[in-house]
Amino acid sequence: MNLITTVSEMMAARERLPRPLGLVPTMGYLHEGHLTLARWARRDNQSVVTSIFVNPAQFGPSEDFASYPRDMERDLAMLRQEGVDTVFAPTVEEMYPQGFSTYVNVERVTDALEGARRPGHFRGVATVVTKLFTIVQPDRSYFGQKDGQQVAVIRRMTVDLALGTEIVVVPTVREADGLAMSSRNVYLTPAERQAAPMLYRALGRAREMYRDGVRDARALRQQVEGMIRAEPLATLDYVSVADAATLQELETVDRPAMVSLAVRFGRARLIDNVVIGQD
Ligand code: AMP
Repeated sequence: MNLITTVSEMMAARERLPRPLGLVPTMGYLHEGHLTLARWARRDNQSVVTSIFVNPAQFGPSEDFASYPRDMERDLAMLRQEGVDTVFAPTVEEMYPQGFSTYVNVERVTDALEGARRPGHFRGVATVVTKLFTIVQPDRSYFGQKDGQQVAVIRRMTVDLALGTEIVVVPTVREADGLAMSSRNVYLTPAERQAAPMLYRALGRAREMYRDGVRDARALRQQVEGMIRAEPLATLDYVSVADAATLQELETVDRPAMVSLAVRFGRARLIDNVVIGQD
């Protein structure tokens, strides 16, 4: 496995790697969710590049950039085992050199949910992902449904800017008790960790109601909200039932919709979602 830390070396390496080439962008501190993306990429492509970069541009000033968990040695060992060819792990100075002034701004789909609560977050995500696409020029790029709004933003941006990579979305990988895997789960205390699977139970309840014929989005929101408010360790940020592509809130679930939530458990802010109305 080849570890590359500079943009110029990565641009040279991409020319030598057999095609098709799959890209798996990550911020490291890898878990089964990331490894599932890498496995899908391995299955579909001749070469796999995984990037590891904790992107300062997508963290707000009061967010956890400095304390975000990092363990490069462990990450490299895990990726080697998965048969990843190339790891691209640039420094912040390499990705944002002196004088850096160009950002990608995706409008509308970034207005609500995470975009509304984390100003500048998706500008940071869209900018770094565009730059990774430019450097690596992947045939396919792999993202997790876990970050549902990120998927909508990247799909929109890839079409709008004709970025020429196929976006492959991998279903959310969960712990045995339903908690969505996340690098930030390490922030949970044992009691919070025990309570956290209720997020997925609440989303699952909304999915059941939809299957039972409920189409009133407000009824679904109220059900999920009620379940979360009943958990003393949880502080609800939002529950949304929105068009899966535009993320506009729905009154009636008459098209594919994402039921999503953000909930604070102590130090950890957890997000999760399920998609309904596809079948
Ligand atoms: P991150 O390192 O958190 O930026 O995540 C890198 C990629 O892995 C993103 O596309 C995430 O959506 C995806 N990912 C993170 N957690 C999971 C999970 N539990 N299941 C599936 N994909 C995930």
